[in-house]
Order: sequence, then structure tokens, then C-alpha cells
Amino acid sequence: MNAIAQTCSQCGWSFDHAALASNTCRKCQSSILIVSVSYLEKFEKPAIQKYISQYTNTLKVSPEDKDALLAMSICYLKLSLFDQADRYLYRLIDAHPFEPAGYYYRAITTLKGKRPRIVSLSIIREAEKLIETASELDPANGRYEILLAALRHDYYALNGMRIPSPEPEELIKNAMTKYVDSLEVQQIFKLINVNETPMQQRFAMN
Ligand SMILES: [Zn+2]
Repeated sequence: MNAIAQTCSQCGWSFDHAALASNTCRKCQSSILIVSVSYLEKFEKPAIQKYISQYTNTLKVSPEDKDALLAMSICYLKLSLFDQADRYLYRLIDAHPFEPAGYYYRAITTLKGKRPRIVSLSIIREAEKLIETASELDPANGRYEILLAALRHDYYALNGMRIPSPEPEELIKNAMTKYVDSLEVQQIFKLINVNETPMQQRFAMN
């Protein structure tokens, strides 16, 4: 059962079947469910706040709702409120340990908006472990290998350290054989403050 409200968080319109099926409000064109950071690409802070208040209500009724926990994490991540994002990600992982997105976004929040190059090795190792868990749970999606490649390039290669295997080039080659949402990948590069890696140039072209 889906506990998500049946009215638009942005304009209040009541969804009909076609809107729910396409995940888009037919009045204001906002996304109904926020399932990845790419959905928030065009939204400013006030719109994100509206999503947060709607999902807060959902969680009052249904505290383990997977969609709402994920959406809350992504909204706070977009607002750079990393501790808040983490709170919902821990709840998501606790209630839904087989949902890859929990580990994937936790890997991003461990960096707290800093580029990988300037954080400590223990944070990088934690992020790598989280990304590997997500990738094992969802082997058909290439986003995990791209994030891991960006992280390893920025931290190990740019700091002149030995790069653990698999190395970025191999990870990217693998990711290219899988499904990748390039809009989401661009958002992820922004969230981890990595701007000029070979990885991003490659995906900006797509
Ligand atoms: Zn709307």
C-alpha cells in the first residue's frame, strides 16, 4: 500500500490515475514521488520545503514508508543539511535493509558536501563500503560504479596514492554497459563537489 498523499505537495491538485501513473502532477508538472536527486534538479528551497512538509505528514501516519524516508533524505541532501539527511537514511536502512538507495545516499552524506580529495581516509573507506553494498543489491544500475570511480579518482589519484582495484577506468567501462541516469549522475557530481574529472566529462557528453 502506498501511503503517499494523493494531493500535490506543490499546488494542492488532487491526483488522478494518469498523474499517479506518470509520477507527474498534471496541473503544475511537479514530480509526485522523489525517487532520486535528479527529480529535484529544477527545484528551489521553497518547493523542497513543501515536499518535506508533505512527507513529514506521511511519516506521522506511516513511519517506515520507504518512499517517504527516501524522499526526505534526498530533500535534505539537496538543502545541504547532511545530518538531517543521515537521520532519514539510517531509518530507511533500518526498515528496508535491501533498498540500495539507502546505502548509496549515505555514501554521499558521509562526505558532507566536501570533495573526496580533502576528506580523511576513514571517511573514504566508509563511503566505498556503502557504495559496494548498494551495488551488490542493485547490480543492473551503473550509478554506483560511477560514484565509486569519481571518489577513487578524486581521493587516491589526485592525492598521488595507490588506487584500490577496481580502478576508475574499469569502473566506468563497467557502468557504461548498464543503465545510467545521466541527469542523476550530474547531480551527484555536484553533491560531492567533483567538477573536472574525466568521468564527468564523459557523462556530460551523453
Ligand atoms: Zn501540482
